[in-house]
Amino acid sequence: MNVGAVVGAVLVGADVVALVVLPRAFRAVFSPPVRLAGVGVLVVVAGLWLWQALVRGPDWFVVAFCVDLGVSAVYTVLALLVGRLRAPVVEPLRLSHFVQEAARFDGPQSIGLMVGHTGAVFVVVTRPRFRQFSATLGGSVCLFCFVEDQVRRIVGEDAPAVAEYRFHLGEGDNRHVILKRESSDGPWRVRLADRKAYRRVLPAPTCPVHGPLTALDRHGPPAVP
Ligand SMILES: [Zn+2]
Repeated sequence: MNVGAVVGAVLVGADVVALVVLPRAFRAVFSPPVRLAGVGVLVVVAGLWLWQALVRGPDWFVVAFCVDLGVSAVYTVLALLVGRLRAPVVEPLRLSHFVQEAARFDGPQSIGLMVGHTGAVFVVVTRPRFRQFSATLGGSVCLFCFVEDQVRRIVGEDAPAVAEYRFHLGEGDNRHVILKRESSDGPWRVRLADRKAYRRVLPAPTCPVHGPLTALDRHGPPAVP
């Protein structure tokens, strides 16, 4: 087998992998919270791949890639519409159990939690396998209390990130809580990421702690309880 044939076989293999990966990449990038950087990377990589396929062929891959791209885009739009209207209802205890189990994972771990202004909680865990989803909590639990409770249980009761989180809420600035550690022996690091598209704070009128912080008519400096 000559070098050209080997390179051709490798490229065909890469094309097949791209067809399998593309729908998953769409799902991961467009699952809330959507990050513009992720969307940009997906657009550039998919565009370059399509361009080089148009240049070198084979024709079947160009057709398959376009079909894959179209199906992924339509599926994503439908998923976003349905997900926005109806995130699955999950019992708070069950979701808490899921998050805390993920936090006990031995290897490097990253856990993301955010209260969306749609009334859903966005959850991301990277290990033992990547999961990203949004859920509506059953009952009348305060979503901000739920997020803070997860942070305290993972980092410790006196986690300063909780006060910082409330400060931002008081400023009308919703944040994405990201907990990371390199290994089960390492310390947790907490980052409160700013997601421009999700800055709007969901009012929590029934919560004695977060109700005043998230009131729509709130003015002046936050009163951290
Ligand atoms: Zn609350």
